Amino acid sequence: MRAPAHPEIRESVRALCAKYPGEYWRKLDRDRAYPKEFVDELTSAGMLAVLIPEEYGGSGLGLSAAAAILEEIHASGANGGACHAQMYTMGTILRHGSAEQKQRFLPGIASGELRLQAFGVTEPSAGTDTTAIRTTAERRGDRYVVNGQKVWTSRAEHSDLMLLLARTTPKDKVAKKTEGLSVFVVDMRKAKGLTIKPLRAMMNHATTEVFFDDLEVPAENRIGEEGRGFRYILDGMNAERILISAECIGDMRWFVEKASAYARTRVVFGRPIGQNQGIQFPIARAYADGQAAALMVREALDLYEAGEPCGPQANMAKMLAADASWKAAEACLQTHGGFGFAEEYDVERKFREARLYQVAPISTNLILAYLAEHVLDLPRSY
Ligand SMILES: Cc1cc2nc3c(=O)[nH]c(=O)nc-3n(C[C@H](O)[C@H](O)[C@H](O)COP(=O)(O)OP(=O)(O)OC[C@H]3O[C@@H](n4cnc5c(N)ncnc54)[C@H](O)[C@@H]3O)c2cc1C
Repeated sequence: MRAPAHPEIRESVRALCAKYPGEYWRKLDRDRAYPKEFVDELTSAGMLAVLIPEEYGGSGLGLSAAAAILEEIHASGANGGACHAQMYTMGTILRHGSAEQKQRFLPGIASGELRLQAFGVTEPSAGTDTTAIRTTAERRGDRYVVNGQKVWTSRAEHSDLMLLLARTTPKDKVAKKTEGLSVFVVDMRKAKGLTIKPLRAMMNHATTEVFFDDLEVPAENRIGEEGRGFRYILDGMNAERILISAECIGDMRWFVEKASAYARTRVVFGRPIGQNQGIQFPIARAYADGQAAALMVREALDLYEAGEPCGPQANMAKMLAADASWKAAEACLQTHGGFGFAEEYDVERKFREARLYQVAPISTNLILAYLAEHVLDLPRSY
């Protein structure tokens, strides 16, 4: 394997994460609380602004720097879910916003003064079929009036702004169902007609349901052209999938290291359990799968940073890395036997956290359907 990219950044992330050991995450998990101190420290270290160009106060680095940060956070036993969206949600403004919008939002996001880490796309009735969303934004003079509901809007309680996808033209009045959707930056600090309800989930993810009841959004907060929002959201998907795959690689490393360390020292029947092939093979296989997945993540990052199309690689990286982290999670839990279920080992917490990536931000079935249709030229299945 080539040496990992951005060794200095990785070293600083490891040093920062070392201040937030298992006990810190365990307590938050128990209380379903937000890792404010951890996120604040990442913010002041500039870690969440690496993708923002220097002219707006960020460090203007490529996606591989963000991937290195998230991988190391996860490899340390921590979780980037609390803050990863602050890194990349702004990409929609950067790519499709006006010069005025970039000036208005990006410097504040770079400094952390403005938190843009809520992303309102998923709805209860639409699910993965995004064009079926029912939240509407109706233009009235210089504003839009939003009505509807989102679900799984993570970090909404810890964000100032939300990137919102809503329908501006009814589905039966557009030629293609992907048209007529628009993207808005909603300032949740001043919002009337916005209700956020925490959604207690399997893991500590600060996720919520959000209800819009005649919420007014100034027209100047619409990003890009009206009706082209679906395309703008799709444009950010490759970056998100690659970054999530880097988190999965981090998880895989944590599980493999944790499992190996335990297997070396736990003695049963007078010898370390790691001497048994039944214990060492699943760990070795998870490691091999993880290394192969890491190569695909690297390939997707190289293409992305070169400005080349990378849809298939970004999707394959996400799927293979999520599968590798899940296999490693399973091997780690099994290696720990009963102690794998005890909170104090952190294995059960990471196990619950790693399961998410089979489903979100895109489920494995939908990745396979994408590859079948767009790479293998098979008939569309949905
Ligand atoms: C903890 C958490 C945090 C999240 N954070 C956010 C967020 O911040 N913002 C946001 O917008 N969303 C968020 N999501 C939503 C997430 O993106 C969706 O859960 C995910 O895209 C799947 O959608 P769904 O849950 O509606 O499943 P559904 O679309 O109902 O699918 C259910 C199952 O059916 C399968 N399926 C559906 N259609 C097909 C098909 N045609 N072929 C084969 N299989 C199919 C899926 O693969 C899945 O396994 C989050 C979800 C979770 C759990």
